[in-house]
Amino acid sequence: MNTEAYLIITIISAIIFIGTAIFLICYLIYLRKTIYSDFVLQHSISLKKLNELNQHYIFYPKKNFDQSYTYDNENFFNSISCKDYLIYQLKYIKHNLFEQINKINYNNLLYSEYSEALQSILHFGHFDAPVHKLKSIKLLEIEHKLIEKNIYSPCTHFYLRVTLYCSNIHGQVYLRKSDIFSASEIVFLNNKLKDMNGDFYNDREIWDALCRVERGKVSNKMRFLIYKRDGYKCRKCGVSDKYAPLEIDHIIPISKGGKSTYDNLQTLCHKCNVEKGTTIHKY
Ligand SMILES: [Zn+2]
Repeated sequence: MNTEAYLIITIISAIIFIGTAIFLICYLIYLRKTIYSDFVLQHSISLKKLNELNQHYIFYPKKNFDQSYTYDNENFFNSISCKDYLIYQLKYIKHNLFEQINKINYNNLLYSEYSEALQSILHFGHFDAPVHKLKSIKLLEIEHKLIEKNIYSPCTHFYLRVTLYCSNIHGQVYLRKSDIFSASEIVFLNNKLKDMNGDFYNDREIWDALCRVERGKVSNKMRFLIYKRDGYKCRKCGVSDKYAPLEIDHIIPISKGGKSTYDNLQTLCHKCNVEKGTTIHKY
């Protein structure tokens, strides 16, 4: 056998030896950790008390009520704020938002009671069996980790995020804005929504926000479909888009509670639209 072959065999042997050594060291570390973890799991007084305490506390899980909407019209995206959008959602789509706010408030109260109870039961390093040769620092470290893992951390503060996007005609988002609202802000806005005098809101800001969002429901795509449906002509005077700029009109105006739905939209030229004003008229 030549020296080159010897060299290769030596290198391979060295690699196998080092590999085995690394494997053994890892295995020993794992074994040691398991022994320590098992001891803590079986004999930590704090951990046992924590598990007992946990059985008495049931927190509500966090539910996501975040809202988002994509505008294909930059003007609407710019004129409608996240708050406007939230007000609209509060009026028309309530979900179980207020039920969730109550649940999170309940979590908050319960959690302060739980935290207080934790203070009185957690005394690290107390075991109901002799420690023998186990290192107490290592035991404490593992006990800390296990207790941390087992302490409940429920959702105690409600907030809702509203995100608005603006997309181009290909559907690619190129603008984005986002805002976070707390439970108290949501309750405040909802109370303003309830503050009505007949059909009128006592808070002008609320009404304006609702109108802005309703108007913004006429997407560019919808606009195109209405023009197409109406033959690219004013439904009143019949002028075509070649001779006069066409506009989308709400048959029942938004200011009178009209919605941005296909049935409530019609094509008018600018002149006829101005003449119609806020009257209710289907041509
Ligand atoms: Zn016209």
